[in-house]
Amino acid sequence: MSPAIEKLNNAWARISRIEQTIAVLSWDMETYMPVEGVKPRAEQLALLSELSHRWLISDETGRLIEDAEAETRGSDYFSIEASLVRAARRAYDQKKKLPEELVTRLARTTAQANSIWIRAREEASFPAFAPVLSELVAISRDMADLLGSTGHRYDALLDLYEPDLTTAEVERLFGELKTGLIPLVKEITARKSPADTAFLTRTYDTGRQEAFGLRVLGDMKFDFNRGRQDRSAHPFTTSFTPYDVRITTRYSEDDLLSALFSTIHEAGHALYDMGLPLDLLETPLCQPISLGVHESQSRLWENIVGRSRGFWKHYLPILKEHFHGQLDDVGLQQFYAAVNTSRPGFIRVESDELTYNLHIFIRFEIEKELIGGSLSVKQIPSLWNETYQDYLGIVPPNDALGCLQDIHWAHGSFGYFPTYTIGNLLSAQLYRAAIDACPSIPGDIKKGNFIALLEWLRENVHRHGSRYTSAELVKNITGGGIQVGPFMRYLADKFHEVYSLS
Ligand code: ZN
Repeated sequence: MSPAIEKLNNAWARISRIEQTIAVLSWDMETYMPVEGVKPRAEQLALLSELSHRWLISDETGRLIEDAEAETRGSDYFSIEASLVRAARRAYDQKKKLPEELVTRLARTTAQANSIWIRAREEASFPAFAPVLSELVAISRDMADLLGSTGHRYDALLDLYEPDLTTAEVERLFGELKTGLIPLVKEITARKSPADTAFLTRTYDTGRQEAFGLRVLGDMKFDFNRGRQDRSAHPFTTSFTPYDVRITTRYSEDDLLSALFSTIHEAGHALYDMGLPLDLLETPLCQPISLGVHESQSRLWENIVGRSRGFWKHYLPILKEHFHGQLDDVGLQQFYAAVNTSRPGFIRVESDELTYNLHIFIRFEIEKELIGGSLSVKQIPSLWNETYQDYLGIVPPNDALGCLQDIHWAHGSFGYFPTYTIGNLLSAQLYRAAIDACPSIPGDIKKGNFIALLEWLRENVHRHGSRYTSAELVKNITGGGIQVGPFMRYLADKFHEVYSLS
């Protein structure tokens, strides 16, 4: 590395270490901290965030970036050095454009919004949430205007989660996916269920569930010397560095598989974080590309691998051993069909692979209009319910099961939802490319061997850190852009097969 980049990296490492510390304290807060610890913890987090923000936007950091830019001018766009400086510039400009007053206003409002949202959801009362949501929408519009974009105002918010992705591109991709998906959902919904799924909700010892999950984690090569699994109210993954990646899960006695699938999902995120480039530790490049690419990893492992027939060919006998005869009456066919049964439902996080993206379309359409200014907050419930009727054929009986269900808006996270569907599209494209390169992968999965798949992901995705955008990464791998086709074909093949067997 050149001298100016060395200097930039040294400064960046200090900021990274504060961010790592924030992540440790936040993880502790979600897992082990006693409830009374919350007030001082919030103060600790606020102080460290302020420090990190101040260092990042300091004139000193700005100068270091300029020097590094001068030194890398003319070098290959995708070289490590040019990419590193680009990533630093991006983070610096983004933060620098937002005045401290706005950042504080957002933090204060989201802190209030969180508890207001919890109460409003309990009471299924959208009017109770509407005033603070209006405030958050106003702040987000201001934020989008300050960040700036050449197209739709929503572009600036999307860019926070998925660099360079535009509203127009999301509209194009979602439009195409909708054209294939809505008729497929209607067709599958009209058929009779392919399996009796009642066995999934018998009583299953949570200790045995945990033991089985740990077995799968080990087979996925989740490295317990560089990570651990704990319990939390909502499963999540957090990474302090690639050397220390934490996942959480939650168990419920009357649900055989929700903890397992969430474990596989979070492990998919964790493997990505563990695979980030160690030689670029604490530099601007030792970061995941985007939320969409992150989600592509979790979805690939959870759905494409974890809900495949091959996977259960290997693991069903092992699962049966763990539960000592409780599943003796269930065969592979029934099991596979049960984990791939689709039913339109109100709740996004409980929805199946087939209907999931319809929930995302609805949120994207509402957010885009809210931020653009053509929809007011009080119009949300009626638009929400109308679109659920159009896309899923169901209308939520109340707002708790409707537009109050997600925490994202209470967090002020507008522009986040589309990355879930982008992740699904990418998961199918990446898996397709992986088996083209290593045709043994599907056969390996039938033996519980994921090494070739993981190595392909490490080589083609993880080790690059944030050197590319998601579109650039896909272009390198497939020669084309983000596409709907592979995902749509994957869904159609799978659900036609599962439902033709009934
Ligand atoms: Zn995820």
